[in-house]
Amino acid sequence: MALPTPPAAGKVVVISGPSGVGKTTILRRVLDDLPQLVPSISATTRPPRAGERDGVDYHFLSPGEFDRRRDAGEFLECCRVYGRQHWYGTLASEVGPRIAAGAWVVLEIDVEGTLSILARYPEAVTIFVEPADPAQLEERLRGRGTESPEAMARRLEVAHRELRESHRYRHRVVNDDVDAAVSAIERILLDAGLPESPPPAPSTTAPRTADSIPAGPGPSGPHAASESRPAVHPAPLPPPSPPRGARA
Ligand code: ADP
Ligand code: 5GP
Repeated sequence: MALPTPPAAGKVVVISGPSGVGKTTILRRVLDDLPQLVPSISATTRPPRAGERDGVDYHFLSPGEFDRRRDAGEFLECCRVYGRQHWYGTLASEVGPRIAAGAWVVLEIDVEGTLSILARYPEAVTIFVEPADPAQLEERLRGRGTESPEAMARRLEVAHRELRESHRYRHRVVNDDVDAAVSAIERILLDAGLPESPPPAPSTTAPRTADSIPAGPGPSGPHAASESRPAVHPAPLPPPSPPRGARA
């Protein structure tokens, strides 16, 4: 009797970039266009912004609850960003079971978190979103109007450090124009083997891509992205991950 075919392994996709560069804006569009992607909902101790929903934008946790879950080993990675102010982390439950079931899971996390994820998932598709000009970050953060002057200063300081880390990512995409950045990221994902169409509705409670993603043709390597496309800059493999810890 033939054994059931195991689902094709899924993939981790990581999107990073300095605060205000437009990651959330772009990712929302990419997730709308490519429903075969599953977002990982991070946990954070930062308070929700107006319009943000618990369990949708983040799992908003109290510092005590975050500590408890960290001590229980529930995070794949976590760190403090922005002057030791808030914790952010990827829950293992958001990623491992879905990847095992064949889903492509997207994480919007910072550089430090990316290095931890790469230690666990070296085949991850890593994309760094950068501004055409660093001055855009301040303009956009100011335009978003969500940060106090102190929080904005902290974010901009970290942003300038993060911009120097973009070489650790396999792909870099400039967000000057949202449409162009969205297209560039979608091209990278399709070139990396993301199935072109959503899978049929799953018959279980598993994520929408579970057990139904065909093993796409895929690239010859895990990060064989488009070359010479506007706004996309393939980058070399990152070095091994350093130990995880709190950021200054
Ligand atoms: P991030 O998630 O990287 O912190 P956001 O997606 O919240 O950034 O974007 C920050 C602000 O910049 C938002 O107000 C957004 O509407 C705006 N924005 C994003 N991309 C662009 C762009 N290409 N041109 C102009 N404004 C942009
Ligand atoms: P924001 O407060 O603007 O939503 O996010 C701030 C920063 O935290 C962004 O750079 C974002 O990528 C990062 N971030 C969000 N979730 C996570 C996470 O789960 N892990 C890590 N390491 N960083 C995260």
